[in-house]
Amino acid sequence: MRTRREFLQKITYSAMVLPLLPSWQFGSFRIDNEPYDGPVLRVAIMGLGGYGTRVAQAMKACKKAKLVGVISGTPAKIKEWQSKYQIPEKNCYNYENFDDLKNNPDIDAVYVITPNALHHDQVIRAAKAGKHVICEKPMGLNAKEGEEMVRACKEAKVKLLVGYRLHFEPKTLEVVRMRQNGDFGKILFFQGQCGFRIGDPNQWRLDRALAGGGSLMDIGIYAVNGARYMVGEEPIWATAQEMKTDPVKFKEGVDETILFQLGFPSGAVSSCLSTYNMNNLDRFFLNGEKGFAEMQPSTGYGPIEGRTHKGTFTQQHVTHQTIQMEEMASIILEGKEPIISVDGEEGLRDLKIIDAIYKSCQTGERVELV
Ligand code: NAD
Repeated sequence: MRTRREFLQKITYSAMVLPLLPSWQFGSFRIDNEPYDGPVLRVAIMGLGGYGTRVAQAMKACKKAKLVGVISGTPAKIKEWQSKYQIPEKNCYNYENFDDLKNNPDIDAVYVITPNALHHDQVIRAAKAGKHVICEKPMGLNAKEGEEMVRACKEAKVKLLVGYRLHFEPKTLEVVRMRQNGDFGKILFFQGQCGFRIGDPNQWRLDRALAGGGSLMDIGIYAVNGARYMVGEEPIWATAQEMKTDPVKFKEGVDETILFQLGFPSGAVSSCLSTYNMNNLDRFFLNGEKGFAEMQPSTGYGPIEGRTHKGTFTQQHVTHQTIQMEEMASIILEGKEPIISVDGEEGLRDLKIIDAIYKSCQTGERVELV
């Protein structure tokens, strides 16, 4: 049993430390029930589909981020999510009325997880409502859209982050750490192979109006993004070639398979494959003068596996979306700097490269990126 003396010591200590505690302890971010700990990012998910569902599940294990709202066009899904995640009616919106978020002080950020073509307008509207925005990849359909999104978020003084979950993945970060440490020596080559055989021909991913393209927008973007964080430089040129075996399934403007090459200022090159027509393609290979890293799977939900010239990876698997949301909460609430950026500029860099890859497919020529 606690003695009176211990009790008095405890309250005296509390009285001493209370004024020193950070302001969030008393602010609106604090959520008092377990498992939340410290400032909490209160998130509304927009788009309650396959990936939105995965993010919501993963957020249940977060201590710094909490799902508190939904934006959906399907009332039945809203009801289901309300009861599953105890979401109050006042935090539920549809695609017509979500601008009203500006009057809701109980939501800090909107996570946009809808088909690609909707990201641009939805992110800008969420920013104008004064909310930080996390947007799924690809951030927009092209660099022009990306620039407008970055500008709108700057003007609204909100943060824009892109759902690049691998930027927080421990084995990926180990390769980046080794590269920065010089363990691979001068980087010479990166290979990224990303693809799967896509099913249902009627899904939005095969509809140019909603997807903005084909495999490159959806899965090849991992090789575009990976080339940059594995090599550790920004590419200065791109060349690309498109192949199509099924023009009925993959209509005009929807790429089935693209091979692309990127050149970097140091002279390093990358050779990548993006496809909707082959399974078991999820492989990164980085080669330097002194060593190598290979990851397979390299971008799936994990566990990511592989080795470097020093041995197999030993880092523990973590649910990608859980650690992503924990880290994004720290970025938004505490200004934490991630090891690999996830901001709107980062999303925009990928969109510029994607534009160049599509342009090279059309012209057959090398496209300069600077
Ligand atoms: P999905 O089809 O499973 O879900 C899309 C959701 O958007 C659905 O709930 C749908 O009802 C809703 N929606 C709203 N307006 C729509 C419209 N006009 N047409 C069609 N659907 C509409 O797709 P998903 O797999 O959840 O992908 C959504 C986004 O998330 C995409 O941008 C995709 O690239 C991204 N994504 C990212 C990852 C990742 O690992 N980071 C994984 C999967 C998907």
